Amino acid sequence: MSSRIPFYDVARIADGRADDRCADLRRVLASGRFVFGPELAGFERELARLVGVEHAFGVKSGTDAIILGLEALGIGPGDEVITTPFTYIATVEAIVRTGAVPVLADVAPATLCLDPDACAAAVTPRTRAVVLVHLFGHCGNLDRFLALCRERDLLLFEDAAQALGSTWQDRPLGSFGAAASFSFYPTKNLAALGDAGAVVTPNPAAAERLAQLRRHGRDDSGRHVRWGWNSRLDEIQAAFLRRALPGLAADTARRRALAARYDAAFDGVVTVLQPAPGCDSCRHQYAILTPERDRLRAFLAERGVETACYYPTPVHREPVLARAGLTFRNAERAAREILNLPIRPSLADTEQDLVIELVLESVRE
Ligand SMILES: *Cc1c(COP(=O)(O)O)cnc(C)c1O
Repeated sequence: MSSRIPFYDVARIADGRADDRCADLRRVLASGRFVFGPELAGFERELARLVGVEHAFGVKSGTDAIILGLEALGIGPGDEVITTPFTYIATVEAIVRTGAVPVLADVAPATLCLDPDACAAAVTPRTRAVVLVHLFGHCGNLDRFLALCRERDLLLFEDAAQALGSTWQDRPLGSFGAAASFSFYPTKNLAALGDAGAVVTPNPAAAERLAQLRRHGRDDSGRHVRWGWNSRLDEIQAAFLRRALPGLAADTARRRALAARYDAAFDGVVTVLQPAPGCDSCRHQYAILTPERDRLRAFLAERGVETACYYPTPVHREPVLARAGLTFRNAERAAREILNLPIRPSLADTEQDLVIELVLESVRE
């Protein structure tokens, strides 16, 4: 077999939609409105409806969405915010950028999402919020976190960068927290043609602050009432995102079908990371775990199958944090053993069959 199976195929965003994209671009160009126009307003309405939350704000990136979302909830210097070390660095970086102190707690081995017991043990009198990361589109047991946050009077924030289209007990992820963030980076399930993100909240006071924060602290009357940021989602990106939104459900269905085929093939042979019962994941990534990860990855690469490791280094082992000398056994083991297999919606059954065959061949060696 000489065919190559790429992990992502970001360029295919335009496949079959190139004419639509050009029409979007012409429409925005003709309008002369490039910032804060009808495309952004339309996208925000459509996203809010999809997630089932009253207020949505397009911003520059998923990272900005976390920073602005936490700030809008009043998180800042003097506060502690608990989150997971098994995430993209942006989650922890965003907490740092609000002026709050990130407090890491280990993940649960079954989900690789934040462990509710470890999270509860990390609460101090200074803790103000918990940032959950819905890793690969999965969530842990949300009921546990909702109860913990209620009992200890903490704010729940969802980093849903990977989880657009996922549900917990049939309700969309991103609709449980005091606020939630999404990313539309080109490799995410809903892709912009560059950086883009959004933050959603059911809370009218937080919504008012968000509208100001992304626009230099400007209020509706044009006065500047707080220090803000420049974090606006351009009309062109908003138009492209609106164009992609109607296809999200079909893409998610395809990802779920691919996950089910992997699950069936690997049952009893390969350790598969599964969402918690109650979570219907959008399957942003599909992950298996094996101590032979590096050997398996090389075996697949030699045969043209591209894979990925999310994440090879837990955040607390990155140089920027390593001095703290933290240890989280479950996150470290996951970083050694995790392997992400291709699950893009364009992956053909025949391509997936080859990936499956090669994985099984390698583990049986
Ligand atoms: C992608 C991602 C982010 C950051 O989003 P950007 O749009 O790249 O800034 C944050 N958290 C998680 C979990 C992500 O996957």
